[in-house]
Amino acid sequence: MEHSLSPGLYIVATPIGNLGDITLRAVDVLRGVGAVACEDTRVTGKLLHHLGIKKRMIRYDDHAGEGDRERLLALMESEAVALVSDAGTPLISDPGYRLVRTARERGIAVTSLPGPNAAVLAMTLSGLPNDRFLFAGFLPNKAKAREEALAELAGVPATLVFYETAPRLEAALAAIAAVLPGREVAVARELTKKFEECRSGTPGELAGHYAAHPPRGEIVLLVAPPLEEPAGDIDVDALLRTALADAKPSQAAAQVARATGLDRKALYARAMELK
Ligand code: SAM
Repeated sequence: MEHSLSPGLYIVATPIGNLGDITLRAVDVLRGVGAVACEDTRVTGKLLHHLGIKKRMIRYDDHAGEGDRERLLALMESEAVALVSDAGTPLISDPGYRLVRTARERGIAVTSLPGPNAAVLAMTLSGLPNDRFLFAGFLPNKAKAREEALAELAGVPATLVFYETAPRLEAALAAIAAVLPGREVAVARELTKKFEECRSGTPGELAGHYAAHPPRGEIVLLVAPPLEEPAGDIDVDALLRTALADAKPSQAAAQVARATGLDRKALYARAMELK
């Protein structure tokens, strides 16, 4: 199928490690389009070479401006253009949002092919409740902003899914321990690759493991939903003691209130007793 697709934008998910995960339809579409818009022509060039496909590549990355976007949109009026990212599903913590939005506004045909995505893969692997999950992208880099972002998500009754990097894992686990005490956490690392692993535990246990075995590669971090048991079944004192190790009674009470839904004033009174 060479240049046989009708004009428009084709969003194509590509492997996140194991090249065998490319779908048959993705290969067909990459063969059939007139051009491939990609974040990095070297990365996508390797994938296309592996698939035996020679194709015009057009760079479209985080730095792409309106001019780059307009050129691609103009091309899509007359040709089929694929959008890929370096790995996984385009637009999911990757470029493409404005391109897709504008293409749709202008009536350009847009279609998206299902395929690899690290967040969904980690969710299926983690053993954490999957009836509801919230993908929250990357946590902020700065400590205060990171804690605020976690605090904002504390009451969400769903498993939280974050993208992480190995150098930031330690800080992320410490922030989860402080802001979301008592939650189970899973670290899904190097998915679909040789050293794939998924490790669960408390943030403290995982921090201990990764201090002894510095993590490498790519990471998805997942946090279990807030506890749902009736208040009587929660070991409130244990949660408060953990929180009091790093925080003042008022902060500890606020953290445990967020995690459990219990009354903050009552928790503060108990925290003062335990202090
Ligand atoms: N669009 C991609 C997707 O669909 O998964 C995600 C792109 S985002 C820029 C890169 C982040 O995805 C990494 O920092 C990591 O958190 C996660 N990721 C990508 N590949 C992964 C893998 N093989 N194992 C674990 N996490 C991965």
